[in-house]
Amino acid sequence: MDDSIRKKITKSLKRVVIKIGSSVISHREPGKSSLVQGLNPERIRHYSRQIKQIMDNGCEVVLVSSGAIMAGRERLGLTRNHLTIPEKQACAASGQSHLMHTYEKKFEKQGLKVAQILLSSADLVNRRRYLNAKHTIEALLKHKVIPIINENDSVTVDEIKIGDNDTLSATVACLVDAQLLIILSDVNGLYSRDPLQKSRRKDEEPPKLISQVNKVTKEVEKLAGKSNSLVTVGGMATKVLAAKKTMSFGIPTLLLNGLDDRAMEKALNGETVGTLFWSEKEKIRNRKHWIAHTLKPSGVITVDAGAKKALLERGKSLLPVGVVRVQGNFEFGNSVTVVDEASCEVARGLINYSTGDLEKIKGMKTSEVRKLFSDNFYEEVIHRDDMVVFFKDD
Ligand code: GLU
Repeated sequence: MDDSIRKKITKSLKRVVIKIGSSVISHREPGKSSLVQGLNPERIRHYSRQIKQIMDNGCEVVLVSSGAIMAGRERLGLTRNHLTIPEKQACAASGQSHLMHTYEKKFEKQGLKVAQILLSSADLVNRRRYLNAKHTIEALLKHKVIPIINENDSVTVDEIKIGDNDTLSATVACLVDAQLLIILSDVNGLYSRDPLQKSRRKDEEPPKLISQVNKVTKEVEKLAGKSNSLVTVGGMATKVLAAKKTMSFGIPTLLLNGLDDRAMEKALNGETVGTLFWSEKEKIRNRKHWIAHTLKPSGVITVDAGAKKALLERGKSLLPVGVVRVQGNFEFGNSVTVVDEASCEVARGLINYSTGDLEKIKGMKTSEVRKLFSDNFYEEVIHRDDMVVFFKDD
């Protein structure tokens, strides 16, 4: 059963977010897994080949990469355990450019282009900034560039930090509506008990790798202990919480051992490796549920019959040309209702224009809107990904 679900998820994958943990791109001192000696470019070269393969199969890739602080520690010679906040921020600043330079070099050899995006939690909680980040990522993907995202550690202090890249990668997976989040770390997946801890009783069963988690219950959260590594931030606990988050948005998460050179390939061929967090029941798109049922619409947009058909039957975004009337008072990023000319609700979504701007462009073709706003405009009034359409039986 697990296999068929995996095959279903990995078959014709169109967009995946891959989180690369510090532990899988660092040099290690043999036998001392918690001690690292800086960035290991060989590992990045390795990932470049795997990612090229994934992209050649028609799948877009967004990376969330840790490793800035680890790489910066090496560069600045700050290897002691505890660093002050400014020291950590200096490591992040220095390490981030080193990290990106290494990605640039290694990915270029595979003919792949990369771009850096540094996000902070303020970019993600604010709807407008959230959508701005999303649009940038979409534009990069459209141009076949791999966005490489990290937290903007050099300017954010602990109190306002996202804090770990597992959480960041889950947010990014939801942001770009990925079909799968892959988290690569130095463990094989979630175990029935901590594999590093010696058993307390003689008759205790050896820890077993759990191949699938259907629901992140309190028990599952307990299984995930805490991180005590110098290199990684969150350990299994933040991975499980990240998986919980993506599942609630209808996105599966796969935990894989990134040190196993074939783990991703095997997983994407539907083989049972790592731990898959997924249940068919979670398929309801919660984000869309949120748009449809939680947000209070601040405007009503009436569309003509052509636009209605495009939304309902052809899965399209709403363009200015189909808009006939604009009511209400809204800003970029607000929720609005879309109705047909008989005032029946057709859809709800997050708008890319304010009331005033939409008034100006309603009924216009894209070329006319371009003339009005130069190149500084959105083709879609509401992008399909930010919209829920209501079919007759809804
Ligand atoms: N953003 C941190 C870095 O690049 C890592 C955070 C994490 O590993 O979760 O060093």
